[in-house]
Amino acid sequence: MPNGHTSSDAVPDPGVERVRVLLPLGLPGPLDYRAVPGPGLGPGAFVRVPLGSAERLGVVWDRESGADGDGIDEARLRDVLEILDAPPLGAVMRRFIDWVAGYTLAPPGAVLKMAMSVPKALAPEAGVSAYLGVPGWPRPEGFRITAQRNKVLELLAAGPPRTPADIRAETGAGASVIKGLEAAGALAVHALAPPSPFAAPDPDRAGPALTPAQAAAAAKLLAAVRAEKFSVTLLDGVTGSGKTEVYFEAIAETLRRGRQALVLLPEIALSAQWLERFAARFGCAPALWHSELGAARRRRTWRAVAEDRAPVVVGARSALFLPYAALGLIVIDEEHDGSYKQEDGVFYSARDMGVVRGHLGALPVVLASATPSLETVVNVERGRYAALRLGERIGSATLPEVGLVDLRAAPPPSGRWLSPPLAEALAETLEAGQQALLFLNRRGYAPLTLCRACGHRLECPNCSAWLVEHRASGRLTCHHCGYALRPPSSCPDCQAEASLAACGPGVERIAEEVSALFPEARQCIMASDTLAGPQSFGDIVAAVTSGAVDILIGTQIIAKGYHFPRLTLVGVVDADLGLSGADLRASEHTHQLLTQVAGRAGRAELPGRVLVQTYMPEHPVMAALASGDREAFIRAEKAERKAAHMPPFGRLAAVIVSGPREGEVDATARALGRVRPNAPGLEVLGPAPAALSLLRGRHRRRFLVKGARNRALQPILRHWLARVRPGKAVRIQVDVDPVSFL
Ligand code: ADP
Ligand code: ZN
Repeated sequence: MPNGHTSSDAVPDPGVERVRVLLPLGLPGPLDYRAVPGPGLGPGAFVRVPLGSAERLGVVWDRESGADGDGIDEARLRDVLEILDAPPLGAVMRRFIDWVAGYTLAPPGAVLKMAMSVPKALAPEAGVSAYLGVPGWPRPEGFRITAQRNKVLELLAAGPPRTPADIRAETGAGASVIKGLEAAGALAVHALAPPSPFAAPDPDRAGPALTPAQAAAAAKLLAAVRAEKFSVTLLDGVTGSGKTEVYFEAIAETLRRGRQALVLLPEIALSAQWLERFAARFGCAPALWHSELGAARRRRTWRAVAEDRAPVVVGARSALFLPYAALGLIVIDEEHDGSYKQEDGVFYSARDMGVVRGHLGALPVVLASATPSLETVVNVERGRYAALRLGERIGSATLPEVGLVDLRAAPPPSGRWLSPPLAEALAETLEAGQQALLFLNRRGYAPLTLCRACGHRLECPNCSAWLVEHRASGRLTCHHCGYALRPPSSCPDCQAEASLAACGPGVERIAEEVSALFPEARQCIMASDTLAGPQSFGDIVAAVTSGAVDILIGTQIIAKGYHFPRLTLVGVVDADLGLSGADLRASEHTHQLLTQVAGRAGRAELPGRVLVQTYMPEHPVMAALASGDREAFIRAEKAERKAAHMPPFGRLAAVIVSGPREGEVDATARALGRVRPNAPGLEVLGPAPAALSLLRGRHRRRFLVKGARNRALQPILRHWLARVRPGKAVRIQVDVDPVSFL
């Protein structure tokens, strides 16, 4: 019995009222319960129900949604225990949850769990008590009026009611004094509503005067907001063209119409500059939503969003699942960014599901990028999305000049990674008192440690991956599972002493090389592991902005959106890094990432330049970077995908079989292989060991399902996977529209 109802001998009652309740658990669907008489038990109500010997919170689900209850005997129905004092989950959100579950093949409860991420928010926030004196209070026999009590009584003789904090501030009296007076009946208590956690952004504060191109684009977005219906608009503008100020206008119009706006950003915890600009435009901070938010903040934010007291929410992908009371606009900035794809639990793309949310909620969606994804570009060509183009940088800034450094012709000295042309450009930049950025998308000191005597490589015991040396922390670390150890003094395999050698560079090693080349230069590393939280990230951004840093060395976290006016040189240490491997979008993603990185150079009056170190200068990605001809690159990439029937011209889904015991995983994978779906135009590749064939101690096998664009893969997958019972500890995960192929 999946729901744990206990049997009972009660006589069936034909007139009993059932409700379906979806619980935030991995069950196949909602469960039936007996409705308690009384108001408030409509669809969307948050309820407390029994499940087995425990109690759970859930949501009353619709009858007509196709989500059947479990059809349990009436005799065994159990009662809904309580209707919680929270705004019901709206119909659009319920449809959205069903839709996401249907598309991703996740259990609907697993999707609901994302929308109920803060169970504590389902109880109303406790208000604060405020106190007022009782006129003509008859002092009880023996009640002493101490000096402190007297001060409080005098203060509270006249209104307004004061909170304990106010009372303490004005009289110095603490809680015990108030308690004593309250117990003696000297004070009347008033419950105050909890303060609203978010100030109202002012849509009519003046922002910068928009350029004609920005104004034209803003006008189109305003029209989309006023239409109050579903639309998707791509805001396609080169780096530094002022896209943010343009979509701020759409947010302003949404606020004027009394509705909420949601902005998704890729690295919300690191978006200090973005928040400053928001505050400058709207006069206050927006509501933030990301994983580093504290528990109290999460609770207040969830509740405020549900009660329409959070006009603008800025968040990571999970912000899509907040229970908006009056959502009127969704902006997805850097829409091409890989961090919008969630790859555990429910596998979903926040970009794509954001568009679905817009469709179900009949509201406009804005996708912003300097390097839109091929999916989005093709949707524009098919006429499904509108597009607005900003072709030039703001003010006198121009796009930087990009030069390729052919590492075959100009190799760095042995044991070094900066080629002579790049080292020279760095020297010139420092000489001119300007700033440089060295980009290498690899954390740590060296990606591989190798024994010079026997060739042994230090690998993670839990993952099929090398251990990455982090010299700053004195550790060899697995970037997949976090396993770490101190670097051994001898080879663990052949016991040779002092034979272990670091191979290849990470950002720490580049920093070492910079110190050797330019001992005077002030340098700083920006990588996710060298920064403890948004605060230190904000500090570094401030240091770079103020000119306290000459050379910035960083991974992809610096590629996103930063604006450093004095930064004029960008050096890409290893442009080829992302091009190896079997990733369908390797070229596209490398082009996007390097365009973003290059876009950090020369964003103000000082012109910028970019040097890209590569062994493959003839590669289409490098050619496109050098020529700046994005269209040609997209055309070629599109032609290739089309010929191979790959997305967006075909559909993909990955099926990942994993478990701690290899034999069991293989058995399940083979069983799936034997009953693989067979249909014209459908291809099922695998089972094959995943590129990460061992991950966090789990062995992994993959299938890749390929189908035509006009055919939904979900029914095929559902039918297929239902035919196999996985081994006991084996998990089968489905990744519809996979981004990672590891
Ligand atoms: P993008 O997101 O397209 O890379 P941004 O929105 O970051 O570009 O804008 C680049 C810089 O130009 C920012 O510092 C921004 O404050 C500034 N800016 C944008 N629009 C204007 C404007 N109309 N007038 C003056 N400065 C602007
Ligand atoms: Zn590992």
